[in-house]
Amino acid sequence: MLNLDRDVVIVGAGPSGLTAARRLKKAGLSVAVLEARDRVGGRTWTDTIDGAMLEIGGQWVSPDQTVLMELLDELGLEMYSRYREGESIYLGADGKLSRYTGASFPVGPETAAEMDRLTAIMDELAAEIGAEEPWAHSKSRDLDTISFHHWLRQNSSNEEACNNIGLFIAGGMLTKPAHAFSALQAILMAASAGSFTNLTDEDFILDKRVIGGMQQVSLLQAAELGEDVILDSPVRTINYTEDGQGGYRVIAESDRAVVNARFVIMAVPPNLYSRVSFNPPLPRRQHQMHQHQSLGLVIKVHAVYETPFWRDNGLSGTCFGADSIVQEVYDNTNHGDSRGTLVGFVSDEKADAMFELSEEERKEAILGAIAEYLGEEAKNPSVFYLSDWGSEEWTRGAYAASYDLGGLSRYGKSQHDAVGPIYWSSSDLAAEGYQHVDGAVRMGQKTADRIIAANQELRQAEPALSQA
Ligand SMILES: Cc1cc2nc3c(=O)[nH]c(=O)nc-3n(C[C@H](O)[C@H](O)[C@H](O)COP(=O)(O)OP(=O)(O)OC[C@H]3O[C@@H](n4cnc5c(N)ncnc54)[C@H](O)[C@@H]3O)c2cc1C
Repeated sequence: MLNLDRDVVIVGAGPSGLTAARRLKKAGLSVAVLEARDRVGGRTWTDTIDGAMLEIGGQWVSPDQTVLMELLDELGLEMYSRYREGESIYLGADGKLSRYTGASFPVGPETAAEMDRLTAIMDELAAEIGAEEPWAHSKSRDLDTISFHHWLRQNSSNEEACNNIGLFIAGGMLTKPAHAFSALQAILMAASAGSFTNLTDEDFILDKRVIGGMQQVSLLQAAELGEDVILDSPVRTINYTEDGQGGYRVIAESDRAVVNARFVIMAVPPNLYSRVSFNPPLPRRQHQMHQHQSLGLVIKVHAVYETPFWRDNGLSGTCFGADSIVQEVYDNTNHGDSRGTLVGFVSDEKADAMFELSEEERKEAILGAIAEYLGEEAKNPSVFYLSDWGSEEWTRGAYAASYDLGGLSRYGKSQHDAVGPIYWSSSDLAAEGYQHVDGAVRMGQKTADRIIAANQELRQAEPALSQA
């Protein structure tokens, strides 16, 4: 067992925890990062499966994610654009396939007009309410006590338009059915990406990838931190007590290390806070709040082919179908790879249904759905892999956490409150970049800055205390 003395102990070596640790260390504070898994990166994980490099977790970068891009630059990482030449495929509510170009689905004129109208309402609300404090807006309670599903139908009687608009946030982002989260939560999602229009434009939201993989953001930061990152070491208990001088004494107990510190950063998604025993227990409001934040569920499907056959047919590989098992498909070919890779997503209740099947049936159903868009060749990939984050003990879902109905307006204002020496940092709590690596990095920086400021305050108070 390692016994360490540090200024700050960080729980979780995902992009948020590692960004915080690196910033704290640069500011002269000593750190220890305790990670439950045998690797860093959390929900970013670049691995080679049957000879194919796959992004099992987070991968895309959009133009608004400027803080992540600055970090990529600092770490010497380069990006490349997602392949997007050619026509996309849309599977309509009537079961008909259409080819199209541009950002708008090839729907009938009435549905198109309704989609434009709903998009304009969402854009306006996202601009008005913003991502920083959606709970503080005068409309927040009204928007937070109606499900996004019902809010859409309150605003439009066009079912196809409601389903398509719902898809961008429900299946596409929060990965929960649209009846399971509020309109306010949907507006936060849109505002965090700059606008709802940005979310509907795959050329914006899925613009670029990191050459060599997104996990490098964590791997390179962890390499700089060296022995201050301890793997295979889930934190089980955090004891904290006042030190009598305005600060705190912390003892964090993990499987491989006990760390004595003055501050703690919980850099794990909120659904995992209760995996740690806090002594004394967290206050009532935290106990309650954390039970209202849960992760969604999505299966990320990877299918690698000898060639990107869809391109020969003039297709970009981009496919949408709100009623398909695989609601979105994209060309996900690696930089400089002669093979072709497709990525698809099976979300929430459709994912539940897939997990009820045998492995063979599941593969057949998923490849069958992709083949419906792109033809029979899609049924025979050389590598087929499903990212199953719901089974990962130290994540338990994908992509990130959101509140249940009413939770954001009720608890949001408390989600950043420190409890004594304990601070909270993850993409799930971000404003800009919410649910994304960019948000994880932003939160890591902000949390580190709060601790640096709190530490300075304590240091300034020291002479006065010793004179007293
Ligand atoms: C399938 C998938 C696709 C995604 N796609 C994208 C995308 O294209 N673009 C994008 O920007 N984002 C994407 N994301 C989201 C992005 O990966 C996350 O927002 C980001 O990784 C969150 O970083 P984090 O540091 O906040 O949390 P995490 O990455 O979850 O890191 C938390 C860490 O804490 C550790 N931990 C948990 N409990 C304990 C404990 N008790 N003790 C010690 N360690 C503990 C975990 O093992 C983990 O390493 C995707 C996520 C998934 C799952």
